[in-house]
Amino acid sequence: MKRLLGALCIVAAALVPGLGAGAETRIETPPTGVTALLRDYGRAWLTHNPNALDKTFAPGAFRTAQLRSVRNAAEVPFRVYDVSAETHYSGNLASLRVRNLYPGKQVAAYEVTIRTAFDIEDKTSVGDGAFTFIRDKPNPNDAYDGWRLVSDSDMDVLAFFTSSYLWDDGSVSILRSPHFLVLAHPDVVPTLRSVTNVCEEALARATKFWPLPVRAKYALIIPTTTEELGGIVHDTADLADFVAFVSSGIDETNGWEPGAPRVYIHLEHFRVYNTAGQVGILAHEFNHAITRPVTGPHVPTWVDEGMANVSGGLPAYNAKSGNLPTAFPTDDQFVTGSLDDIVRNYDQAQVAIQVLIDHKGRAALARFYDKLGSERIVPGTDKYYLAQVVGDTLGWTLDQWVAEWRKALR
Ligand SMILES: [Zn+2]
Repeated sequence: MKRLLGALCIVAAALVPGLGAGAETRIETPPTGVTALLRDYGRAWLTHNPNALDKTFAPGAFRTAQLRSVRNAAEVPFRVYDVSAETHYSGNLASLRVRNLYPGKQVAAYEVTIRTAFDIEDKTSVGDGAFTFIRDKPNPNDAYDGWRLVSDSDMDVLAFFTSSYLWDDGSVSILRSPHFLVLAHPDVVPTLRSVTNVCEEALARATKFWPLPVRAKYALIIPTTTEELGGIVHDTADLADFVAFVSSGIDETNGWEPGAPRVYIHLEHFRVYNTAGQVGILAHEFNHAITRPVTGPHVPTWVDEGMANVSGGLPAYNAKSGNLPTAFPTDDQFVTGSLDDIVRNYDQAQVAIQVLIDHKGRAALARFYDKLGSERIVPGTDKYYLAQVVGDTLGWTLDQWVAEWRKALR
């Protein structure tokens, strides 16, 4: 039972729904000096240029750390590195607390969106955070009107963390296989060929399962330790139980657009499993990765996780344990409660999707999922919307589906 927790993933946590906001609805316009600074900052990262990057910083610990990071990332094949200040949801975040950190300076702080893409990625992965800028006074002779970047962690006390990356923890080496770009630290890379072989097998399984077109290639990020993984995802969950997960981020500055999915593998835990278990876990995760282009904010967790479990191809060992349920599990039932309960919810969700496939076929599942994920703003509750889509795409009522599911769980 404990082993199955390996299949848990936090893709749903990365997909926080939000109302789409057009670029025109801004609370304020960031200073032109800050905008120019961020343009150069992104370009310096993109071109691996520490000297250009250095020109954007005020002296301090953040500067030192970033100059180390950009050297650590020397081999990372960026196609896009773009950082922009966002004022769709907040204006200048430099509260009195933040201003007091920089006595005698003018201070501005903005939410930022960090869009990165590697050479194999057709879309950007979306990160976010908050950057603080300081200056002594306006300086029209300066490229950034006097502004310099001083911190990305002033909002940490509010649990608003800035995205961090593998290269923030040490130098990064690259490994390639037919369908993957792998990022890991150099000491680990020589041991990863067996991992990429398993990934290739798992992706083949997940691709065979999913009837719609899929991306050709994916990025794999492989932190060395649990602590490093925790630092990257800023997650307080017990990461020791995670084997792998997918994160894509959502670009909310232009509606609700899932970013490029990146697959994180928790190597210490991954190696505990035999090859069959590893392939099953990764084929689950690759289903999440494969289906990101057609997902949406109103897809319930049980649909995502049930579908991914079927893609994984491992038996639903625990589906028939406990009481016979009367309704599909709610999103919170995948993250709260006992380990046994959570594992059972995954397995019962798997049976729900298997029942759909048995009655309607995999093409119908894809049609259902595609439609369910397509809408950004829907009338009524999510359950009402789900029932509509079930009727439209499957010719079932939700009650019929639940009844067939309960039959299979007896
Ligand atoms: Zn999952």
